[in-house]
Amino acid sequence: MDGGTSSKRRVGAPGEGQSSCKRQNATMGMDTLDCPVCFHPLRPPIYQCSVGHFVCSSCRPKLVRNKCHLCSAETTFKRCLGMERLMESVTVACSNANYGCAQKLTYYQREEHEDACPSAPCFCPASSCSFAGPIDALLEHSASQHKWPCTTIKYSEDVKFCLEPGLHFLRIKDREIFLLNVALEPFGHAISVVCIQPKATNSKFKCRMSYGSFLTDYYQISVYKIRSSSLSDGLPKGYNLILPKDEIANNGKVTLLTFSIDDPNPKVKVREPICLKPVRGV
Ligand SMILES: [Zn+2]
Ligand SMILES: [Zn+2]
Ligand SMILES: [Zn+2]
Ligand SMILES: [Zn+2]
Repeated sequence: MDGGTSSKRRVGAPGEGQSSCKRQNATMGMDTLDCPVCFHPLRPPIYQCSVGHFVCSSCRPKLVRNKCHLCSAETTFKRCLGMERLMESVTVACSNANYGCAQKLTYYQREEHEDACPSAPCFCPASSCSFAGPIDALLEHSASQHKWPCTTIKYSEDVKFCLEPGLHFLRIKDREIFLLNVALEPFGHAISVVCIQPKATNSKFKCRMSYGSFLTDYYQISVYKIRSSSLSDGLPKGYNLILPKDEIANNGKVTLLTFSIDDPNPKVKVREPICLKPVRGV
């Protein structure tokens, strides 16, 4: 709960819906502030049965024949303004406070905030390093501690990289950050790309990678959806492109990998290809 005591004092008791300026640290079992049906934090409007058992506004219409989920009494659920006032007054710190977030939120707003908290941590991919921090701090750390390069790129722009083992950060200006990993395995070069973000979400980025060599007369292209990760489990285990050892000219030292990320929100819509149907009887 929120700490500190305000210097302002209100005269008289605050009315319904107003928060008191008297604040004090306290400990409480936070699960008492959760809906006993869905276990999510209670948020106004909050209802109670005739005995006083709480239920949230989402769960109330789902109760069969208006039977209380705890005492089974058939009842008329009424608003509980006292509990609503309590829920408005309980403030908690964001769980990313250690990473620099100073937000104080009502208990029921915390989860929503943390889903998009700009201070939520991503993790250093070096197996021997325990650094975790907001994405910009991770980039600074990667450059200063590990000397991993970071290149700013644009969506849908072809970028060429030397095919050398190591990590390479790619940043879309003021937006997403990706990590390109080229690993040298016994069977050849194995390449993966991951979008670094605190919350893993369904991928909205498509990546194209290609490699070609006139010397070995070999060409390979790979198009795939990029996964997202906070790197809390280290680098992704799978690879998106594997170049067999025998097909890489000059051991890969001067050969180039062409790489691009499609714009997830293109201004010009890509037209669907026209599907030609066979004409019968011709
Ligand atoms: Zn509920
Ligand atoms: Zn009840
Ligand atoms: Zn936060
Ligand atoms: Zn590190």
